[in-house]
Amino acid sequence: MKTTKTINLKNRPKGKPELTDFDFTTSEIPELNEGEILLSSKYVSVDPYLRGRMSDAPSYIEPFELNNPIASGIIAEVLESKNNNFRKGDHVSGVLQWKETQAAKPDGLIKVDPDKASLSAYLGILGLTGVTAYLGLTEIGKPKKGETLLVSGAAGAVGSVVGQIGKIFDLRVVGIAGTDEKTEMLKSEFGFDEAINYKTTENMIQAIANACPDGVDVYYDNVGGKISEAVLFNINKFSRTVNCGAISVYNNTEMPKGISVQPFLVKKSSSMQGFVVFDYADRHPEAIKQLTEWLDQGKLKYTETIRQGFENIPQAFLDLFEGKNKGKMVVKL
Ligand code: NAP
Repeated sequence: MKTTKTINLKNRPKGKPELTDFDFTTSEIPELNEGEILLSSKYVSVDPYLRGRMSDAPSYIEPFELNNPIASGIIAEVLESKNNNFRKGDHVSGVLQWKETQAAKPDGLIKVDPDKASLSAYLGILGLTGVTAYLGLTEIGKPKKGETLLVSGAAGAVGSVVGQIGKIFDLRVVGIAGTDEKTEMLKSEFGFDEAINYKTTENMIQAIANACPDGVDVYYDNVGGKISEAVLFNINKFSRTVNCGAISVYNNTEMPKGISVQPFLVKKSSSMQGFVVFDYADRHPEAIKQLTEWLDQGKLKYTETIRQGFENIPQAFLDLFEGKNKGKMVVKL
């Protein structure tokens, strides 16, 4: 009987997650049932939203169970198949468990072609990351040529794509990120017009005003908290905020008190709307088609931070909260 290593959720993290919140077990891989495929994990996506699933607070997606495997987007190779739609050697993408090898029913898995793009890209720009950037910006941000788009978490997986799409749509694009290396990369590699390092800037309200002299028309918010409060002082009449994520408060044990957003929104007839990529599942194929086209035309670029080894998956996840990634963080097995 073959065995596999698995990563389970050992504790529900209090505040910032730690390595001790995860544990590794080894278990036998059961024989394949009819209709199942045996998968070897190749690339594992680590994502900030997994933090929400580690707590048991109600959310848009159910919590992980304690002492059970964690799951995320994974690219895997088919080792054996008892399903007519999949053959040995195929590659698939979908939400799978943090296991080196697993037997799975292929419901929800899609085939990906390693000859068309690198396998890791199907977790990033051609996966949920790219789709989140494209649909969040177009559906809620509703960008118009000549407007100013401000993006927080700009050097991360979603943010770096949002900014580039803003440039394709002919907007002025400004990014906010946590190191000078990242702000430089946004301008030199990804075509952002300006970028602000929020860790070295004392007055974010003024810095945003300087970088966005015509105000902010679309704010794509990946971080929430104090950064997003400073944006409110710079929004334009009829501006739109895409609430995509709030990583700055994911590890808070109590919701931080902030300024009231309502007076800002009323004064500027401005709107703010939460975005969850899964709500637009029927539009994912259209988004992937558009992203693929832009990528092929050289209009979109992407960067990745690739860690090596199954045992390093938890650390790669923790490092997202320290800003140790540029672009999409994935782990190669
Ligand atoms: P990511 O941006 O690649 O990685 C996280 C980044 O967040 C880090 O690199 C770090 O960059 C920044 N960060 C960490 N702590 C921070 C803090 N306290 N304040 C400000 N920035 C901080 O991750 P991603 O996968 O692209 O996700 C970005 C956001 O989108 C997350 O909030 C995520 O939950 C959300 N998201 C939402 C959906 C949806 O459907 N709603 C889908 C995908 C992702 P710095 O060095 O710049 O600090």
